[in-house]
Amino acid sequence: MTYSKREPQSGPVTEEDLTFSLSQLMEYLAAKGRSTQCPMCPHNGEWIFHTGTDDETDPRVLIFGCQNSSEQGVYTPFALMECPRCGFMPSTSLFAVHHYFKDKKNG
Ligand SMILES: [Zn+2]
Repeated sequence: MTYSKREPQSGPVTEEDLTFSLSQLMEYLAAKGRSTQCPMCPHNGEWIFHTGTDDETDPRVLIFGCQNSSEQGVYTPFALMECPRCGFMPSTSLFAVHHYFKDKKNG
């Protein structure tokens, strides 16, 4: 899969760059102050995260890709979470998560 580049200077982004564990995604969401309140229903609490089944204690976050209309075979990568009450599924850009950890690593 080829991923689109959000910023020209960021260079090619690989699947490895976009692979995160659930604990890393949770760290990112907490750092950004994301709410546990569903914007579509009264649910406020835990969400369902779409993850792989490779690691039961800290599973890998599945990478979803959204294809745009102008570049065939180029995808914008995102993670999905799901409201357990109404099924609303907000997505989170994996570019944003990637940049968060890159900046953290580089100080
Ligand atoms: Zn909901």
